[in-house]
Amino acid sequence: MTGNRSGRHFLQIPGPTNVPDRVLRAIQHPTIDHRGPRFQQLARDVLDRLRLIFKTDSPIVIFPSSGTGAWEAALVNTMSAGDKVLMYETGHFASLWYSLAERLGLDPQLIAGDWRSGVDADTIQGILERDSGHKIKAVCVVHNETSTGVTSDIPAVRHAIDSAGHSALLMVDTISSLASIDYRHDEWGVDVTVAGSQKGLMLPPGLGFNAVSEKALSAAEKATLPRAYWSWAEVLETNQTGFFPYTPATNLLMGLQEAIEMLLGEGLENVFSRHMRFGEATRRAVQAWGLELLCLNSLEFSNSLTAVVMPETINADDFRRIVLERFDMSLGNGLGQLAGKVFRIGHLGDFNDLMLMATLSGIEMTLDVSAVPHKKGGVQAAIDYIGTQAQA
Ligand SMILES: *Cc1c(COP(=O)(O)O)cnc(C)c1O
Repeated sequence: MTGNRSGRHFLQIPGPTNVPDRVLRAIQHPTIDHRGPRFQQLARDVLDRLRLIFKTDSPIVIFPSSGTGAWEAALVNTMSAGDKVLMYETGHFASLWYSLAERLGLDPQLIAGDWRSGVDADTIQGILERDSGHKIKAVCVVHNETSTGVTSDIPAVRHAIDSAGHSALLMVDTISSLASIDYRHDEWGVDVTVAGSQKGLMLPPGLGFNAVSEKALSAAEKATLPRAYWSWAEVLETNQTGFFPYTPATNLLMGLQEAIEMLLGEGLENVFSRHMRFGEATRRAVQAWGLELLCLNSLEFSNSLTAVVMPETINADDFRRIVLERFDMSLGNGLGQLAGKVFRIGHLGDFNDLMLMATLSGIEMTLDVSAVPHKKGGVQAAIDYIGTQAQA
């Protein structure tokens, strides 16, 4: 694409998401001394109030990293070489976490999934019950599988571990759910919550997070995988005084402070119901078009993104290319085994009803021009639904 295009680009991928102007302005700030008093004040505030977003009283370790780094940190801090880890193949991201665990020298077991459903807690419980020697040291699940648009029931996984009387840690990837879909680190008994900056938190990419329970902290004292950059201990120790052991991403932390302010100002309950509205309106549009939702079970529909199955005769990436050329809108691609078969509509983060309507309109118009077999009326179905919903 050459030349200028007027108006804003529509970034409707499920992360990185649109960064609000308030956050952009907070980041656009001269660099400060990361060992000085102004930084100390910033770090103390962010480390304290971030816990309200994770719904935890436990410490949260912040890394200058992608979400992948936060996956690695969760494992290297708590595991030893050869430890068994139970993982669940909800889709592409769960599979990536699994191969990361393999490369770290762990012994992960991946429960096979169909890439259209969430975690089956009974299967996890059965495996844990048969592991009488408690060789499995962690159960790792993805809360919102971003490759499929499927959300898993985390309290059910906690219940499965408890019912099996098992000692494994529970680790949850919330990279595309935190601050869009209800999530509760403490209440749900999660030991390590993995998160990233560039999705519900409305920041650019570049921060990774681990919220860490007491049990995870004691596991970290005994675990022996090598760790240096990712070590929680040094970060937690220096955080006590409002600093970090190495140069933190100072300007992203300024943005994070603003994002926390915005999320708490809106109220997390309102944030979640706004995302529920986007999810429901989008699904109604897709169903009115007569297209298929990738997610099979309505109890597992994701409110942060929707993956749409393309009719077999059409390559989803061709469709996405036309959307980009015609309407300057980016939609998410199919990942892994879903490449070319689905497109994903991101509806999370700094996003409102009219942005959603524009997004759905761009899709419906492109369905027309690219001759995808479909019915009219998806946009109308979304209008009819949104019009009846109370605005937060
Ligand atoms: C985006 C995402 C990741 C990967 O995060 P990176 O920042 O790209 O490393 C992992 N898991 C889930 C569920 C995601 O949505």
